[in-house]
Amino acid sequence: MVQLLRLIVIIAIVWALLQLARRGLERLRQAQAKSSRKRSRRGKPAIGDMVQCAFCGTHIPQADAIRAGDRYYCQQKHLQADRQPKD
Ligand SMILES: [Zn+2]
Repeated sequence: MVQLLRLIVIIAIVWALLQLARRGLERLRQAQAKSSRKRSRRGKPAIGDMVQCAFCGTHIPQADAIRAGDRYYCQQKHLQADRQPKD
């Protein structure tokens, strides 16, 4: 009889541990999904987002470009040079 009780207690403990492990894994998976979603939102734009410098024609990622209205520049110097009247 004591052995049967001990078996029941062991089964109950194992069951409780399995439940805890399952819940822990679920939480871990949710946290990973959340962080990967955040990462993709924060990530740099795709390589497709390239723009051309309006002054020298160099192609640069839009994230690194200097924007002036609807024009993009690879560096501040080119923005200023393009704004200066040409003679
Ligand atoms: Zn340029």
